Amino acid sequence: MTVQPPPMPRSKRRNSVLRLYDGPLYRDWAFWLTTGNVLLGVISIATSDTPSTTPVWFDSILGAVMCGGLFGVVPAWLRLWIRRWRWRRSQHRAQTIASAHSGSFQQPSTHPFPMQWAGPANWRERTAMPASTPPPYQPARHAPVPPPANRNQPPTERIVEPRPPVSVTPPHPASNELAIARKSLQHPIARSVRVLQQAHTARDQYDAVLDTAEALAITISLTAAAVLKDQVSKPDGVLSDPANRALAALRTAYTGAGTTFGTWTTWLGNLRPLVDDSPTLIPGLSSALHTHPGNPSVIDDLNALRAERNHAAHGGRPHTMQEYAVRVAHMMPRIENALRRSRFLEDSPWLLTVSSSFQPRPRVFDVRTQRVMGDHPHFETQNFLWREPVADDMFYVLGSGGPVMMSPFVASRFCTHCHQVEVCYAYRTNRHDGPATFKSFDSGHDIGVEELGDDLRALPERQRDR
Ligand SMILES: [Zn+2]
Repeated sequence: MTVQPPPMPRSKRRNSVLRLYDGPLYRDWAFWLTTGNVLLGVISIATSDTPSTTPVWFDSILGAVMCGGLFGVVPAWLRLWIRRWRWRRSQHRAQTIASAHSGSFQQPSTHPFPMQWAGPANWRERTAMPASTPPPYQPARHAPVPPPANRNQPPTERIVEPRPPVSVTPPHPASNELAIARKSLQHPIARSVRVLQQAHTARDQYDAVLDTAEALAITISLTAAAVLKDQVSKPDGVLSDPANRALAALRTAYTGAGTTFGTWTTWLGNLRPLVDDSPTLIPGLSSALHTHPGNPSVIDDLNALRAERNHAAHGGRPHTMQEYAVRVAHMMPRIENALRRSRFLEDSPWLLTVSSSFQPRPRVFDVRTQRVMGDHPHFETQNFLWREPVADDMFYVLGSGGPVMMSPFVASRFCTHCHQVEVCYAYRTNRHDGPATFKSFDSGHDIGVEELGDDLRALPERQRDR
């Protein structure tokens, strides 16, 4: 036996009855106020003992009109007047927003999370390629601007009628790849995947897929960069030449316009010969960078998603929810495959050192760290006994050869906007002097770091720059 759900209550239609009352009438307080006052007028006149020269029926009608009009119709009319005034004001505000955004391809962030999860809009802001010509403003993509309406009639249907249902691809909440990445990959990736899984609309999913792809590109690149920098600092580093060239390419980006999504995918592509020669340097990276029949490399997928990001930044964003859903459906296998092929990152976890103390007897350092892995912002604590000293409050990659410092590529810094410590990555610095600009993975905020500007400039220079 099946139980039918009760029918949904009929939606309210504002000012649909004589322009003064909302339909259905039984749900409008102004209608009941008017009715009550009409009855009050009739009853009080009909039961009055005061002698009158006019007939009782005439007095009753007069009383009904007076009471109903004064205490029923006038308040309903006042409500109509206030609604019109509020509607005109909201329309004016929408037009102001529209003109403010007409010169920019960015959208106001509609993300449900506060600061620390304010991903998509900021990600787009900090890394999208600048559009050479800003696309014309399209109202459908921004704050809903009500259609032109008769000024005497407030937009009654627009507010209360349910929107037509939009068929949206479900956010693959059960996707195994997303679940694994969220649990076991580096925090910047895991956090983006979490935003993707929690996205409610196709548009939010679209932004979250692109943000996840970029977080993935940055995380793989910075993990490799830290290991390469460690290699060139060693006197017997066999890789010093190709590693120097790779680090010099990063230095050029840092001291130029800053790093973008394209910086990372290009850099990873160029890294292929180097990691092929030394596959144990970052276990699994070499395999991830190679395309096999029917199995695109992580770079293939990231490049496809970067192309989509650039297309969107140059005015190619979808216009409707259906269009967003179609594009998400095309992008989803790409990001899932990229995440699957990036599982090697689990073996090179990021650690944030908390404290260390020297143990004289075994001559080791007892180091307390936080594993910056998984989407939960409260990282798991992990203790190590290391022979080499490490600095406090610094990021390290735990490779097969021990901890490798990630400075100056990744840092933990206090954000003055969010009033909290955020995981940041180096974005750019001046060519000759000055601080470095870091960007928060979470919020995209710029954070100036005085002492790391010199460290970025100290990366190897390209031969022809010397
Ligand atoms: Zn911030």
